Amino acid sequence: MTGMKAIRRFTVRTVVPGPIGALARLATNLRWSWHLPTSQLFESLDPALWDEVRHDPLALLAAISREKLEALAADPDVVARVADADRNLTAYLGEPRWYQSLGADAPHTIAYFSPEFGISEVLPQYSGGLGILAGDHLKTASDLGVPLIGVGLLYQAGYFKQSLSKDAWQQETYPLLDPDALPLTQLREDDGTPVRISLPLPGGRVLHAHIWRADVGRVPLLLLDSNVAENDATARGVTDRLYGGGGDHRLSQELLLGMGGVKALRIHSRLTGTPEPEVFHTNEGHAGFLGIERIRELMDPALTPHPLSWDEALAAGRASTVFTTHTPVPAGIDRFPRSTIEHFFAGELAPGVPVEKILALGAENYDGGNPEVFNMAVMGLRLAQRANGVAKLHGVVSREMFSGLWPGFDHDDVPITSVTNGVHVPTWVDPRLAQLAREKFGADVLDGPDWSKVYDVSDGEVWELRRRLRTALVEDARRRLRASWKKRGAADAQLAWTDSALDPDVLTIGFARRVPTYKRLTLMLRDPARLKALLLHPEHPIQLVIAGKSHPADDAGKKMIQDLVQFTDDPEVRHRIVFLPNYDIAMARTLFPGCDVWLNNPLRPLEACGTSGMKAAINGSLNLSVMDGWWDELYDGENGWAIPTANAGTGEAERDDIESAALYELLETQVAPRFYGDLVSAGAGAAGPSQPGRGGLPSHWISMIKHTLATLGPEVAAERMVKEYVQRLYQPAAAAGRAARARDYAATRDLAAWIGNVRSEWCGVRIEHVESHGLADEPHIGQSLRVRANVYLGTLRPGDVSVSVAYGRVGSSDELSDTRSLELLHARDLGDGRHQFEAELVIDRSGSFGYGVQVLPCHAGLASPAELGLIATA
Ligand SMILES: *Cc1c(COP(=O)(O)O)cnc(C)c1O
Repeated sequence: MTGMKAIRRFTVRTVVPGPIGALARLATNLRWSWHLPTSQLFESLDPALWDEVRHDPLALLAAISREKLEALAADPDVVARVADADRNLTAYLGEPRWYQSLGADAPHTIAYFSPEFGISEVLPQYSGGLGILAGDHLKTASDLGVPLIGVGLLYQAGYFKQSLSKDAWQQETYPLLDPDALPLTQLREDDGTPVRISLPLPGGRVLHAHIWRADVGRVPLLLLDSNVAENDATARGVTDRLYGGGGDHRLSQELLLGMGGVKALRIHSRLTGTPEPEVFHTNEGHAGFLGIERIRELMDPALTPHPLSWDEALAAGRASTVFTTHTPVPAGIDRFPRSTIEHFFAGELAPGVPVEKILALGAENYDGGNPEVFNMAVMGLRLAQRANGVAKLHGVVSREMFSGLWPGFDHDDVPITSVTNGVHVPTWVDPRLAQLAREKFGADVLDGPDWSKVYDVSDGEVWELRRRLRTALVEDARRRLRASWKKRGAADAQLAWTDSALDPDVLTIGFARRVPTYKRLTLMLRDPARLKALLLHPEHPIQLVIAGKSHPADDAGKKMIQDLVQFTDDPEVRHRIVFLPNYDIAMARTLFPGCDVWLNNPLRPLEACGTSGMKAAINGSLNLSVMDGWWDELYDGENGWAIPTANAGTGEAERDDIESAALYELLETQVAPRFYGDLVSAGAGAAGPSQPGRGGLPSHWISMIKHTLATLGPEVAAERMVKEYVQRLYQPAAAAGRAARARDYAATRDLAAWIGNVRSEWCGVRIEHVESHGLADEPHIGQSLRVRANVYLGTLRPGDVSVSVAYGRVGSSDELSDTRSLELLHARDLGDGRHQFEAELVIDRSGSFGYGVQVLPCHAGLASPAELGLIATA
């Protein structure tokens, strides 16, 4: 029967013998992936098999023989260690943590939606930074005790696996995943039938999905799976791949994620008794339809006894929604033809919800917008009362990028804040470093906010650890290089050189990320001769380890990979520069720690944050990066190097010339000499690279490592990030949501009516007259100025607005800078809808001084005065 294919496959889960039965539970909760003692326990059961199954506990339990399991179950030492790990997990899941100190008012449940989650290599449901961030967010929420529930899709093939053809062209394969072999539990009704949610599609079709739950420590992650028998072929394929299709396929995925995700949460609450989410956080715009589903619920008399109108439901939904934007690159934002959205919502998808209102949410009705498209990021912003970018600079860029939604406002006043990303330390810190820290300082030092203990470690120990990390990378890289060459058709006899590719004593520079054009994978190739000289430098050579996947539809990205790989194929340099196919979490965990320097050279300011450099930093690698994303706010001169950026307006080619030249220059004159310390003696050249550590240690370099760990460690930890989300966004959103729901949505009904009225009256609002009194001919500091403004409000009341004076320095073209503002108080009613406002302003600095007056709507239900996009200025 050779050649016959199975028509159905299933994975039979092992029954683990009673005394070590807890292993099944330990393998299913993904906490093992960041809890070193638990993963070490699995490894110890059968170290060779552990490597064979690629560090996957479930696969290990499935592969281990019956006899071996029985033997382990009879070994008291094993039994004791399993019981220990089990107790540890139970304690972890139940004990009060940081969040439990916030008091009873903290939100009871927060739903976190994302199209991808990168939690572990055993659950490959991510493509890059967005997914890894989501995974780190969940793990950190678990560690902090934040009652988060993740919502996503279960893709049958995840993202693709990358390999290379002989001529270095990216090849993609899509191995299918079997949910039964993954650390997932199917959500079932009490009678055992699988839970199913359904979305009505146009033409009478229905999209059904089952729900799987992954346990990420304390945090459940619900994944919707359309591969169910009741679906037609197209519907079954909706969750086939991550970012696979476009058009209707992509839209169906996003409808399932957003609307289906809310339905899944409702069922999960019903079945588990978990409180309904009080905050909905959407990681990028893909899940934006969650807002439509919640509006639908509020407008449906069957679900909401006194149903809300569209405006009321929108106000209520917005109050408890947080939107995070992740990219200033237009191609990173989903846009659909308006007509497609209209088509999908014309049927029963959201009965009772006016389609034209939905369309308006995604309309690009601003300068430069396209009237034919529906923009998911724009909808995300309109459906969320709170929004943020992912680094300070990205906040600035986002406020400018989306300023069209707030016409008339200064970019600074656009209500999009920023929370700088972070990385989950227990996941990304190398076990060898964690071990050293634990031995020297006890278990908690890496979990705490103070990493300054690193200064107590001797230079020799630091340097020795760095060499071990580098060596581990070199070994892993050789193995991967060899495997890649075999796939490219080389015979073993041709591959002896791979055994000595890379050198554990050479300065190692890493570069790995997705390969969209703006990340400039090939900037280092701008002057190939110069790169070659750096690689082959007789005294201080460098070596480069590079990885990255290009989106399957992006031929420009694939061409970059090809150019790079063809450079690395040159026998003259191939021992100093390698490209490793199939960048993923497993590779990353060896790569970040093993590199001495982490390189990042995007086109500023297109890198929203970047997190790989953070993961490198917590392992003592130094960053060498363009001042973009997180590096723009955390580079301090002693934690790495800043690659200078060409002036704005420089042409693309010239910009690459300037920035690559700066990169070469830094490597040649700063980075490499410092790594090799002062050890480079005149004669070293002939003998090859001067080995750091041979006659002394590169003390400046080591002090930069310590400084990086001590100061960047706590800053880039996801703990800092998640606490910021909780305090600055989730808690206010939950409070706003509660106020909105109180007394059968009474405040929401008032707010919506008030907003409707203010919007219709606003066109009449104007500042008719401004005057100031009190300044002498030669004003000086400390003098005060009485500012008075006469404002026409029409039928609006003085309490409906806030009138303020903005004052500061005046530039050459009358623009204000260093501005502050002061509220003017209502002084008198002048009749006929006119009012006078006034305040006393104290001049507190010298130099040019000026002011302007503005009127904004004012209501306790608004999170920002700019929220409605209404302003009147004088
Ligand atoms: C961290 C990480 C990324 C994201 O890195 P960026 O610096 O944001 O580009 C992508 N893929 C993997 C496997 C990662 O670990």
